[in-house]
Amino acid sequence: MAGRSDDDKTVKANSNLPMLKKRILSDENIPQSAVKRLRDNGAASTRPKLATDIAGVWSCDGFYVGKTTRRHSDRIKEHFQAIRKAKRSFENIRLKISSSPPAKRSLENVRPKVTSATVVGVPTKATGRKPVPAVVPATVSKTALSVVVSKKRPGWDLKGQVADMQEKVSVYKGKMHYLTELNRSLQEELELVKSHLKNSKAEAFNAHQQISAKDLEVKTLLAVQQDLNTELQKSKTELLNVKLDRDNFFNVCNTQKEDLDGLRATKQNLSNLLELKEGQIQVTEANLSQAMHELEQLRIQVADLKAETARQADELCAQEMQRRKLHNIIQELKGNIRVFCRVRPLIGVEKEKYEQIEHISFQDDRSIILYKVEESHTGRERKEAVKYHFDFDCVFQPTATQEIIFEELSLLVQSALDGYHVCIFAYGQTGSGKTYTMEGPDIVTLDTMGMIPRAVGQIFKRVDELKNKGWKYSFTASFIEIYNETIRDLLVSKPEKNVEYEIKRVSQTSEELYVTNLKYKTVTSEEEVHRLLQIARTNRSVAKTAINDRSSRSHSVFQLKIVGRHEDRDLNASSVLSLVDLAGSERLDKSLSTGERLREAQAINTSLSTLGLVITSISNKESHIPFRNSKLTYLLQNSLGGNSKTLMFVNISPCEENFSESLNSLRFASKVNECVIGTAHANRR
Ligand code: ADP
Ligand code: MG
Repeated sequence: MAGRSDDDKTVKANSNLPMLKKRILSDENIPQSAVKRLRDNGAASTRPKLATDIAGVWSCDGFYVGKTTRRHSDRIKEHFQAIRKAKRSFENIRLKISSSPPAKRSLENVRPKVTSATVVGVPTKATGRKPVPAVVPATVSKTALSVVVSKKRPGWDLKGQVADMQEKVSVYKGKMHYLTELNRSLQEELELVKSHLKNSKAEAFNAHQQISAKDLEVKTLLAVQQDLNTELQKSKTELLNVKLDRDNFFNVCNTQKEDLDGLRATKQNLSNLLELKEGQIQVTEANLSQAMHELEQLRIQVADLKAETARQADELCAQEMQRRKLHNIIQELKGNIRVFCRVRPLIGVEKEKYEQIEHISFQDDRSIILYKVEESHTGRERKEAVKYHFDFDCVFQPTATQEIIFEELSLLVQSALDGYHVCIFAYGQTGSGKTYTMEGPDIVTLDTMGMIPRAVGQIFKRVDELKNKGWKYSFTASFIEIYNETIRDLLVSKPEKNVEYEIKRVSQTSEELYVTNLKYKTVTSEEEVHRLLQIARTNRSVAKTAINDRSSRSHSVFQLKIVGRHEDRDLNASSVLSLVDLAGSERLDKSLSTGERLREAQAINTSLSTLGLVITSISNKESHIPFRNSKLTYLLQNSLGGNSKTLMFVNISPCEENFSESLNSLRFASKVNECVIGTAHANRR
């Protein structure tokens, strides 16, 4: 604030200066001519020596009057010059001041130090000089000048004129004194201005330094600003991302809010449900306690019933054993070797060839008669029929279905489960229906299913029932082919070369046999057995194309090993159910057969005749039974005779052209049928 007031004062001083000059030149009524004169004479001016040169007198009204007018005008001139100079320097200073920062100084000092004493023109004691009025009092000067101007003295009044002139000189002297003072004051002021200028320069230098510092600062700040701009840009991007996140968050929030609403509704529902359930639980608990009570009662009853059941189980088991015994007696009564005869129907072209089967007749379901029409001995046209009568355990006419046939067979299957070895053969010439009887036709249906699948089906069905009686069973299946006395595994699609299949005893002490390298498959269901039969059938058909229907000249043997155990009573029952599709029994004309065919025929002959021989030997209770004469009888030795049951199907072709083969088959079967194999014993331990 102090600086500001100083400035104000400076401005005031600047503006006062011309006013002052004007007053000096005009207000004091100095005639312009006089002024001009003064200027013209000012060339030879010298600096006034105020103390020594001016030795005038003071007028009565206080104005100093010089000795000579000439000297006064010179001095005035000098003063004017000094004033001009001061003015110039003052202008310069002012210019400098205006171009430099405002000086902090007071221009009060520029003014002449005017005191009341000086104004009234009282001389100062110290200097001894007469005071110079700062401002010439207007009234006084006007009066003085008016005296000078108005007094028009006559030309002769030289004394008056001198007095006027003196008066004027006195006025000018006062003015000069004033101007001298003014000059001095201006000098002082100039000094002040100079010092002020010096200060200003110093200040300007400082300011420059500060500006440099500020520049540096500005640069630093610019760099900072740059950084901040980058930062700002980054922040903007981040803000954008944050906004996006926020939007997403809002969306999520909205979704979650909806979810929450849904959950709240669900919670409400669940709460309601819970309440309902709690109510229900209470009811249930009440019921439960009631039920617990009832349960206790029932437990007692159950204990009683268990005791009763155990007793009944004992009874049942005893009955089961009894049933098995009786069943076996029946089977024995029926004969341990049984023969069923089956005549197949005419098929395909046969139906056209033979309208009906004329050479076969059936008396009842146990006998069959074969007629042979022969030329009469007389040689005439008359023909005589030769009858061949055969009795079997069962004779099935062409109309007999697989189902009917199995009904008779099922009793034997039951024997197998009861622990007796069971062996079922199909004997007959090729095409007589052996495979059909044992397995069924190529495209098999539930109705046309053969004995093997039916037997398996019955076994698994019975096993389920026997489970309730405490029996547990396990089964192992195998399927082989015996061709030219060589065994082949029908369950192996690609037989490895040089694999030996040999029939061996399981152990020295056991009579149980097995075939080396043969695949014995554990089966747990009827379906599994069906799959195995399918594999065997496929493998046989492959061989059929390879070696000209080898199947008809080979035996196929399906064996199911049955092992049963009654844990509680420590009872075991094991047996083997064998179902054999024998090679065609037709006899080949040996004179026409050579090589492989001959060897085949011989092998078939040997094995079939050995089978017959073995059965008769068993029947005759001979000491030596030739089981080892063929692979077939060797493999089946445990299932033939002794404690086993044997069933032979003799399959007969309905075609008259097959008469002799049919007769041979029936004769062979009849021989077997005559055999009575001793009482069988179940394989029980
Ligand atoms: P084998 O096995 O004795 O050589 P198949 O079982 O192959 O004889 O039978 C020869 C043909 O006769 C087959 O086409 C078979 O389907 C058919 N066949 C056999 N027995 C019957 C029958 N009981 N009912 C209908 N067709 C039969
Ligand atoms: Mg066959």
